[in-house]
Amino acid sequence: MHPDPFTAPLPPLTLGFTGNRIDRDDRIRRDPEALWAMTMNPAARWLVLDQLNPVVRSGTESPELLWVRRSEAPRADAVFLGIDAEGAPRFAVAGTASDLDDGEPMDARALASRLDGATAGLVAQARSLVDWHARHGFCAACGAATRPDKGGYARVCQGCAAEHFPRTDPVAIMLAIDLERDLCLLGRQPRFPKGFLSALAGFVEAGETFEEAVARELYEEAGIRTGRVRYVASQPWPFPSNLMMGAFAEATSFEIRIDEEELEEVAWMSRDDVRSALAGTGPFAVPPPLAIAHTLLKAWIDL
Ligand SMILES: [Zn+2]
Repeated sequence: MHPDPFTAPLPPLTLGFTGNRIDRDDRIRRDPEALWAMTMNPAARWLVLDQLNPVVRSGTESPELLWVRRSEAPRADAVFLGIDAEGAPRFAVAGTASDLDDGEPMDARALASRLDGATAGLVAQARSLVDWHARHGFCAACGAATRPDKGGYARVCQGCAAEHFPRTDPVAIMLAIDLERDLCLLGRQPRFPKGFLSALAGFVEAGETFEEAVARELYEEAGIRTGRVRYVASQPWPFPSNLMMGAFAEATSFEIRIDEEELEEVAWMSRDDVRSALAGTGPFAVPPPLAIAHTLLKAWIDL
């Protein structure tokens, strides 16, 4: 008999894009003079994102972010990421890798899986913010052009002066657990390859709690009713700007009724099958360690 996943202490968890330690110092964002001083600081460095792919140093065995000086940085509006542990201001800006010496763009997922958590977290911050600016050039209230403000943490409309702020969209991602049979519920979205299963997930909607979103999504996507919900952990997912919030959910009904628009396959899986899937030898594949679905599965089998 395994311990109750809803009350037992959680095992140590590893989470992708997690561990960003930059000092975001929001007082600097609000102070144009302090922000200007940051950009003129000789230690300041810029991370360039080419089509949202961070630029890394060319020709290194393990990927290394290419932090460029002000003189090399693209002449475009940059986002102030914060001040690093050595006191150096760090910025992110959209640009073209081929304009830089020794730089090439790298897909953020591939990159993050090979970086330490603190650096991957910084990549998440940079990618989400640079993407938000690229898509919010016009005011949602009046349609006029907007301009960046507060070091990249706001945009102000040049027509009606409305302020717009970067979004972070919470997503509930959950492992429904059948305590009696010791099984968990996994599913496959149509865009995933056959044989690839993950935890069910959906956006938290207006007017509901995280726990209510977990219960609603499980019922809508798989027809499963739930009892207890346990928050497990969260992680940034900068595609484009989600906060993935992971949970265990106690199933109280077990017959699967699939929402075929959302999922092509949903099944109850045993602990042994999940264990071998995580080891890469299972009857199905599961998301890599960068994704919180992996963390949830590992937490469940490690309880
Ligand atoms: Zn406006």
